[in-house]
Amino acid sequence: DLDVCSCAYKLGNIGRVVDGVDACRLAVREEILKGATQIKVMASGGVASPNDPIGNLGYSEAELRAIVEEASNASTYVMAHAYTPRAIARAVRCGVRTIEHGNLVDAATADLMAEMGAFMVPTLITYEGLANEGERYG
Ligand SMILES: [Zn+2]
Repeated sequence: DLDVCSCAYKLGNIGRVVDGVDACRLAVREEILKGATQIKVMASGGVASPNDPIGNLGYSEAELRAIVEEASNASTYVMAHAYTPRAIARAVRCGVRTIEHGNLVDAATADLMAEMGAFMVPTLITYEGLANEGERYG
C-alpha cells in the first residue's frame, strides 16, 4: 500500500476546512480533545492540489497565530505544509514549529527557520510516491 503524506489525498476524513480565527481555535481544541498529538495546517498550496496552487498561502496570519496558541495551550505544536519561502517564512514567524515539505526553501528562509528554532521535514518519499503511484491514485 502507498503511504505518502496525507495531504496527497483529498482532505476527506483526515482534515477539515476551517475559516476564521474563532473557528480555528475551536477546530484545534476539538482535535486535541479527540486525541491529536500535533496539529498540521496547510500553510500553502501544494503539488497534488490543482485547485490550490503551490504559490498560494493558506490561512491568515491571525488564524495561524490562533492555531499555534491553542496548540501551545495543549502543550503541543503546529506543523505546516508549506513549499515556498513566502509560505515558510510566514508560518515560522507565526510560531509554527515544523515545516513539512519545504522543498523550495531559500537560504534566507532557512536562516530564519534556524533563528526561530523551526525544523524541516522534507518528506522526500512523497515525490517518489507521486512519481511511481500518482497516476494510479488519481
Ligand atoms: Zn503536506
